[in-house]
Amino acid sequence: MNQLPALPAENYRVFLLVRRGVPLLGAALLLALAAFEPVGRGWYLLGAVALLAEVRPTFMRGKSFMQLRTPILRWDGVWAKALRPLARWFRAEDAWILSFCGWNNHRVRQAFGQRKAVRALVLLPHCIQLARCKADVLTDLGKCYECGLCSVGDLLPLQLQRGWDTRITNRSHKAYREARDYRPDLIVAVSCSDRLLKGLTRLPEVPSYVLPLELNHGMCVDTTFSVPHLLAAMELLVEPKARTGDERVVPLQREGIA
Ligand code: SF4
Repeated sequence: MNQLPALPAENYRVFLLVRRGVPLLGAALLLALAAFEPVGRGWYLLGAVALLAEVRPTFMRGKSFMQLRTPILRWDGVWAKALRPLARWFRAEDAWILSFCGWNNHRVRQAFGQRKAVRALVLLPHCIQLARCKADVLTDLGKCYECGLCSVGDLLPLQLQRGWDTRITNRSHKAYREARDYRPDLIVAVSCSDRLLKGLTRLPEVPSYVLPLELNHGMCVDTTFSVPHLLAAMELLVEPKARTGDERVVPLQREGIA
């Protein structure tokens, strides 16, 4: 990977359309009622103001957004979860969640595009390891043989060259614990859409850039993800680690196959 891949555009239109559209439409209706219906005008105006205040955080950027980032993400998560059953009914549950994730990513990119994170943590699910592989990557990613049969082997050289702090976990609660213990200023996480939604809403205090898994063999088995996408995110959002110039980048085990 000599040439750095570009970070793909985030796809968040559906979530943002609903997230902004519903309260704005409600506010417009209440204002219209207030204009044409004298009875209860005060209440209509109050409702319209409340809805406009509710939608305002979606327009925040920069410092003001970062100061209120946690409650804003928490509230956006309430929207994502509340409308999830409706999205399921339309057979668009994954698309809905990923649209919410895209909106989150868009805002993280706005926040960290200029001022990069200095203490980032990469969180990966254990199911990216080939199911039949015996390498103990859970305890040490360097135990991967780089046989090329799964994404772990693609990731290892990048992690070693760039000094990424990476954890592979087989339980969500372990990933949350790792994140809380490590105290990163940015998490870059890979997971299925369901876990991404849970992670974003359970750890709203830590900004997270999230990438979806590709479930070519079903849930939790031999999953894959775009390593170039992860690399592009790390390059754009995270300050490169200081290098001494004499690093010897050597995986712990290169011999053998899975
Ligand atoms: S040894 Fe091969 S199959 Fe096992 S984790 Fe590494 S790349 Fe994946």
